[in-house]
Amino acid sequence: MNNPLYDPITNIKGIGEESANHLFEMNIYKVKDLLEYFPYRYEDYQLRDLAEVKHDERVTVEGKVHSEPSLQYFGRKRNRLTIRVLVGRYLIKAVCFNRPYVKEKLELNQTITITGKWDQHRQTITVSEISFTPYSIDKEIEPVYSVKGKVTVKGMRRFISLAFNQYIEFIEENIPDALLNKYKLLPKGMALQVMHAPKCHEDLKQARRRFVYEEFLLFQLRMQALRKVEREHSQGIQQEFSRTSLESFINTLPFPLTNAQVRVVDEIIGDLEKPYRMNRLLQGDVGSGKTVVSAIALYSTILAGYQGALMVPTEILAEQHMSSLQELFSSYDVKVELLTSSVKGKRRRELLGSLEAGEIDILVGTHALIQDEVNFNRLGLVITDEQHRFGVEQRRVLREKGENPDVLFMTATPIPRTLAITVFGEMDVSVIDEMPAGRKVIETYWAKHDMLERILAFIEKELAKGRQAYVICPLIEESDKLDVQNAIDVHSTLTYHFQGRFKVGLMHGRLSSDEKDSVMKQFSQNEVQLLVSTTVVEVGVNVPNATIMVIYDAERFGLSQLHQLRGRVGRGSEQSYCILLADPKSEVGKERMRIMSETNDGFVLSEKDLELRGPGDFFGKKQSGMPEFKVADMVHDYRALEVARDDATRLIQSNAFWKDEQYKLLRKDLELSGVLDGDKLD
Ligand code: ADP
Ligand code: MG
Repeated sequence: MNNPLYDPITNIKGIGEESANHLFEMNIYKVKDLLEYFPYRYEDYQLRDLAEVKHDERVTVEGKVHSEPSLQYFGRKRNRLTIRVLVGRYLIKAVCFNRPYVKEKLELNQTITITGKWDQHRQTITVSEISFTPYSIDKEIEPVYSVKGKVTVKGMRRFISLAFNQYIEFIEENIPDALLNKYKLLPKGMALQVMHAPKCHEDLKQARRRFVYEEFLLFQLRMQALRKVEREHSQGIQQEFSRTSLESFINTLPFPLTNAQVRVVDEIIGDLEKPYRMNRLLQGDVGSGKTVVSAIALYSTILAGYQGALMVPTEILAEQHMSSLQELFSSYDVKVELLTSSVKGKRRRELLGSLEAGEIDILVGTHALIQDEVNFNRLGLVITDEQHRFGVEQRRVLREKGENPDVLFMTATPIPRTLAITVFGEMDVSVIDEMPAGRKVIETYWAKHDMLERILAFIEKELAKGRQAYVICPLIEESDKLDVQNAIDVHSTLTYHFQGRFKVGLMHGRLSSDEKDSVMKQFSQNEVQLLVSTTVVEVGVNVPNATIMVIYDAERFGLSQLHQLRGRVGRGSEQSYCILLADPKSEVGKERMRIMSETNDGFVLSEKDLELRGPGDFFGKKQSGMPEFKVADMVHDYRALEVARDDATRLIQSNAFWKDEQYKLLRKDLELSGVLDGDKLD
């Protein structure tokens, strides 16, 4: 029953122990690994018309030797052979470096085929390959593999063809016929062969299309299976509470909920009431009002007789959430406490004691909340804010502690659709896509650094009206490597500039939490009018009187981060402004500044950001949850991703999928990936 494709590569005739060892270094162990080790690009030997070839592109042409080649030496070893070649109606030069023997093989008027880089200005091809015969069609496109150590590209081609010779009959189709037919996909064996030895570009396109779909389908099946298993087999809490009590809490809020808030509240509460565990992502742009939604969810849990936890990435944010919640629950019998690293000694012991005794309803804090020493009495709901990275590990910790609370992730980093269905493919998603009424659009301007004087004058005018401003700098201190403005320098410059009129504060990550605290407090109480800061203020900070956000070296930030920073202003009733100080050199940098000035929509920005940066960079370096695809590209193949997700969802929900023979290999993949093994769920 075991498929020979899972044989070790040492079973392939012609691959000895030594070669195998080299391949192991490249993580190629099984025959299947080798067959599915796809080229990262293809060398194109198709003949092309030079008129259509761009400068610096590689090209293959056929031509006639037009004059006696000339050989020139530089020193003893280095030399250059220049051949004039008539290609169609063009007379071009072909240059070969350090291959003097080529000269002997050339005759006037001989037809040759050369491949190399085209210099359009000099009308010259720098030759990488030359054949002394007319162009022959047998190797139009050649696969190029990324290789390591002693393995060469030619070696790889050989290993793969050996594997094909011996194992081709064992390649099994894993996609059911119905889907193959529906999308007119190439069968697996054929598609594999085309990937490694394509005859033409059209074939290659078809083979690629098949693997894009296959990769997405397998990936989405895992996601959807994970979701199904999480729902049905994980022990969740069925929280029951009085909707009327909840309604009356909602009615005492200082404002009516937006339609979007009403909708997501319904989705969340629906999950709480169901017996399976909630695993939901709540997305909403900065300022869309997620905090109140989280308060409503927490209140539901309390009504049901449970405790809630609100986990945030920084202590500043923890304190802010703490005071927002205290305010929202001020006339209710709800006990909210804060647990941070600065809660120590006796106070900490007491707090942990009353948490365990069930006297605390809501605990707010950083990830210290789920440490070993922290034990809830009846934890019903955990909400995390801006913690995409934290989810999986956190759920494991909670599970090990025997707690099975509902989990809600909140994020103001709008996640492009593409990533939402990949990285968060196993979660339910709620979106707040509407801003509270009456919000003014933040006016955003892109300015060059030499306009600083005018900007300072503008800030001065706003401050004089009683407003406040943020100035964000990328670094804390001057760095030799990076020529960027730093918070400390900018702080002293601005302190000097505004002295006697306005007070300038300084905030950065190296301050102790007490120091940060007191700076933040001064700023929120308007004792400090202008706050110079690094990106510490990025998440969640709420000072409605601040109306100006100046960002130094704005080109250093990604669009999503700029949008986060911008979201610190525009929180009150006054018109707010965001000024991006940037002299970007790259086109991408300029494009970012333009996009920022044109749109305030976080979702639009996140899509653009993804386009400009690529999925790998979106969440910062090597985001753990990012799936890696061999052939597929999440951004460019987005349509296929959606189609595959719908197919996967349908399959997982059907009974046939779990028993029919035609789905055997798809089920096997789920098993191999560990999704169907309960212990490895997370
Ligand atoms: P975020 O989604 O960025 O966390 P917040 O929850 O901090 O946003 O809300 C931003 C501001 O909008 C807060 O001052 C909050 O009180 C206010 N707000 C939230 N919901 C509404 C609403 N439905 N109508 C009016 N103001 C609201
Ligand atoms: Mg928030």
